[in-house]
Amino acid sequence: MSSHDVIIVGAGITGAAIARELSGFKLKTLILEKEAEAAFGVSKSNSGIIHAGTQNDPGSLKARLCVEGNRLIHDELARDLGLNFIRCGQLIVVFDLKDLPELEKIQRDGETLGVEGLQIVDRLWLNAHEPGLGPEVQAALYVPSAGIISPYRFVYALIENAVKNGVELKTSHKVTAIRRLKDGKHRFEVTASGKIFKAGFLVNAAGLFADELSAMAGAPGFRITPRKGEEYLLDKKREHLVNHIIFPLPTADSKGILIIRTSDGNPMIGPTAHDTGNKNDLATTDEGLAETLKGARRMIPSISKSDIIAYFAGLRPVCGHDFLIRHEEKVPGLVNVAGIQSPGLTAAPAIARHVRGILEENGLELIPRKDFHKQREKPVHLFQIPLSKTRELIKKEPAYGDIVCRCELVSAQEIRDAVKRGARTLDGVKFRTRAQAGRCHGGFCTTRIIKLMQEELGLGPKEITKRGPGTELISDERK
Ligand SMILES: Cc1cc2nc3c(=O)[nH]c(=O)nc-3n(C[C@H](O)[C@H](O)[C@H](O)COP(=O)(O)OP(=O)(O)OC[C@H]3O[C@@H](n4cnc5c(N)ncnc54)[C@H](O)[C@@H]3O)c2cc1C
Repeated sequence: MSSHDVIIVGAGITGAAIARELSGFKLKTLILEKEAEAAFGVSKSNSGIIHAGTQNDPGSLKARLCVEGNRLIHDELARDLGLNFIRCGQLIVVFDLKDLPELEKIQRDGETLGVEGLQIVDRLWLNAHEPGLGPEVQAALYVPSAGIISPYRFVYALIENAVKNGVELKTSHKVTAIRRLKDGKHRFEVTASGKIFKAGFLVNAAGLFADELSAMAGAPGFRITPRKGEEYLLDKKREHLVNHIIFPLPTADSKGILIIRTSDGNPMIGPTAHDTGNKNDLATTDEGLAETLKGARRMIPSISKSDIIAYFAGLRPVCGHDFLIRHEEKVPGLVNVAGIQSPGLTAAPAIARHVRGILEENGLELIPRKDFHKQREKPVHLFQIPLSKTRELIKKEPAYGDIVCRCELVSAQEIRDAVKRGARTLDGVKFRTRAQAGRCHGGFCTTRIIKLMQEELGLGPKEITKRGPGTELISDERK
């Protein structure tokens, strides 16, 4: 049995941001995650957009936390955690000038929330700044504070920094039972992977499964409905397809089919938005592809089906129209952080501060740590730096010149570094470094990556998995 002040269930962006926020205080915090690594839930399959805060009901919690999250990422976290946040701006386009009042409303709502620099631009402006737009586009709302980030590397940066500041992370620990205690200090006894953990506060950041977790803890008051989004990744040769992230006008359920710049270069199109009753339904469909291509081509007609190199689906954990973040009065000590649909990636740092406040209001003593290390050393990514810098690195460490993934220019040294920073699976290496994420999907580099992982972790080849137990790639060895 181990004892903690706070247990956080879930190591997605929400749990990671909360853990990092709490790591600034003298607390014993534990994160329990059911998957083999952090960021293997919803946080791995999204658009990677740091939204400005527009296209949300200005009275909603998610609108307020989105604007604040964007600000925190721009002003603090990108620098402190070495994140590659690119403020490329966004355009919300209209195909008919009759829709201008809708753009004006989005502008007014955004300004009410404090989103800066919003400007309605005409076709002449668009011709100069976004020349690939289709002839149907008439005008747009320019939103300069929107940007892009690598969603998984954002999670890993928060987790690494939290762990450096004393937070404990236990992966492959699925919470299966929660018992309420009356022993004063400990109000919860949590069973995960057969082990018992006790804590005074329980933060439920379990994404799609937050409703089940809350019910397990004695607060069965809400239901998560997954809303599927299919996304299609384009080849790097289309890297300069757009200068901004391009949106149509939003619908009642989503922000529409977008053209998304990504921080790693490959543009993306999507996501669709359709409710599904199945929390494991990650299939992409012919209908989803057709809908995505149709929506994307109306804005940028040069996109072709043959540009697509990969596709995936993610499930938004929807619970009504807003985030559900609250202390459960009937279960003292339980804080639900549920319904974290889009813009959850953006809002996460602000959600974390909000949750810190809720915990404090409900009796968690927060004593700042004098030895808090708010900064994290940025990992090297050769694809992000000029050749002259790469040459300098190779002089100091020749393994930077040993290129393992040729599609994405990833060296042996970057893979070793990813393992040292916590990667334990092939997907974990891919999300941290991009090795296996290119056009060949790891066809040429996977065996070499397995060897490097074996050397770093002291494991046999059969023990290296794609994303945890049951996903082994090598079933037997021949001499
Ligand atoms: C298609 C799509 C596009 C999106 N695009 C954007 C975007 O561009 N910008 C933006 O801001 N937001 C976007 N979002 C929303 C964003 O991805 C989510 O809001 C965010 O990732 C939710 O993070 P989370 O940590 O709450 O959930 P998750 O990442 O799912 O984390 C929850 C974790 O809890 C773990 N867990 C669950 N049950 C248990 C248990 N019993 N025991 C232990 N662990 C458990 C899971 O394994 C998981 O790792 C998008 C979402 C989708 C689906």
